[in-house]
Amino acid sequence: MSSTIRSVGIVGAGQMGCGIAQVCAVAGYDVRLHDVTEDKVEAGLATINGNLARQVSSSKLSEAERASALERITAAPGVDDLASMDLVIEAVTEDETVKRKIYQQLCPVLNPEAILATNTSSLSITRLASATDRPERFIGMHFMNPVPVMKLVELVRGIATEDVTFKSANAFIASLDKTITVAEDFPAFIVNRILLPMINEAIYTLYEGVGTVEAIDTAMKLGANHPMGPLQLADFIGLDTCLSIMQVLYDGLADSKYRPCPLLVKYVEAGWLGRKSGRGFYDYRGDTPVPTR
Ligand code: NAD
Repeated sequence: MSSTIRSVGIVGAGQMGCGIAQVCAVAGYDVRLHDVTEDKVEAGLATINGNLARQVSSSKLSEAERASALERITAAPGVDDLASMDLVIEAVTEDETVKRKIYQQLCPVLNPEAILATNTSSLSITRLASATDRPERFIGMHFMNPVPVMKLVELVRGIATEDVTFKSANAFIASLDKTITVAEDFPAFIVNRILLPMINEAIYTLYEGVGTVEAIDTAMKLGANHPMGPLQLADFIGLDTCLSIMQVLYDGLADSKYRPCPLLVKYVEAGWLGRKSGRGFYDYRGDTPVPTR
């Protein structure tokens, strides 16, 4: 564990929040998980339980480690339940208005010394920090999906982030057995600045009829040695998140090369958000994923 952080509150029990909660609990932190409804938190806890059980089956974790990790994660029905946490990581939907609202509710209840981190994939850390009462104790902690598997965390300082905050965040990430890369506070940082335009281009390739879903994914898997095709990866990330990141790049860098593909917009408007909603560029409702185009 890091020297100053003992307890971690997580806001948002979606794909990322659950993954972060899981790795923190396995590393020995006390974790409290919050979402808009208790049902969502319960569903998140069930997912974590299933993931930890799989780690036991594949001998990555002992049964005793699984049981104690689970004991360390508790539900936080209200934001007040996060009051005593040393670090709170916000992992709610990639929407600035939603994130700002959370900070307004959260900041008054937190210990003044607590660090507030965001897992945003693309939004300005400086701008988000300005919506809090602690810009000097605010930092971007960008975990990758799936959190228990992916080794990297991008650390992003806002203009006001103090060195002591950066150092604590750095030590905390190292204690999770992850590697840090430092990115400057520019739209989508490093990984998504490079990855998302590639995914968006794959969607344009589909939109223009250059290839089918299967052809595009096979081309990039076998032709560029990517472990996953770009459309499969888009479904995995969540198409709403992909669209938000492209919009942040497009608005933030004011360059037409970042224009979100209209087909991506259409999928999101249909509620076809990828794996998490059961359908995206593939339909996941059967035993094996079936391309939707
Ligand atoms: P998700 O849709 O799986 O989960 C978002 C969660 O936030 C949901 O459970 C939702 O109920 C909750 N939420 C929304 N409003 C809330 C509120 N007011 N209070 C409490 N909870 C609220 O999304 P995700 O993929 O977990 O993404 C979450 C964050 O992580 C986003 O900022 C995203 O950009 C970032 N991120 C995503 C990925 C990825 O591959 N999906 C990777 C890195 C970072």
